[in-house]
Amino acid sequence: MRRKLAAGNWKMNGLKADLAEVAALTAAHPAPGTDILLCPPATLIAPMVAAAQGSALAVGGQDCHAAAAGAHTGDVSAPMLADAGATHVILGHSERRQDHDEHNEHVRAKANAALAAGLVCVICVGESEAERDAANTLDIIGGQLSGSIPDGVTGHSLVVAYEPIWAIGTGRTPTLDQIGEVHDFIRMRLERRFGPGIGRSTRLLYGGSVKPANAAEIFAVSNVDGALVGGASLKASDFSAIITAL
Ligand code: PEP
Repeated sequence: MRRKLAAGNWKMNGLKADLAEVAALTAAHPAPGTDILLCPPATLIAPMVAAAQGSALAVGGQDCHAAAAGAHTGDVSAPMLADAGATHVILGHSERRQDHDEHNEHVRAKANAALAAGLVCVICVGESEAERDAANTLDIIGGQLSGSIPDGVTGHSLVVAYEPIWAIGTGRTPTLDQIGEVHDFIRMRLERRFGPGIGRSTRLLYGGSVKPANAAEIFAVSNVDGALVGGASLKASDFSAIITAL
């Protein structure tokens, strides 16, 4: 039985004053029946961990470097995230793949570093609109899965987020059938590569314009174990409604 997971990605948003949203969120969900994760910018990880103390909220990073330390100005390593109190890290988000020219092999190297630091990897995959229009969605997702996910994962240390690039921040979502088709495909590929134990216990999140209004119908789709939420995770009231829909 996979426990549901609501994960929020604050992207490059959030100042210390916004930690008030964390207080509101944890007050609204003192004993959640689902797992809740927020991934703020690196500057807010330690303060958010402090703000979430005593609650069920987990805190994660949005990226990490593949090296543990060294001459990499501006980067943050996986051991640094863990040292700040993070338990998870998002890797391979399409904004990183696009803005920082990250490819599957970079994501895989980062995931290996994250696993070595004891972090749970939330690895993102997703097709562009042109790839979907060309009926290449499953080929693209299959390549991202085999290229980005390292061999050493377990059902606990891996979460896969399916995020169609064209649905992120656009207000557009795939049909429920399209979401189900991709999630079933990801489950099948994980089972084939890692066996039924890891394949069936890995949680699969849908991401891309999840809102309180569409959360329940998306969560009812087969093999959807939760959501990776961008914009709607910034406000405790919206994120809370999504958690409640899980
Ligand atoms: C995201 O960037 O991970 C995301 C899903 O964003 P949004 O919910 O704003 O579409």
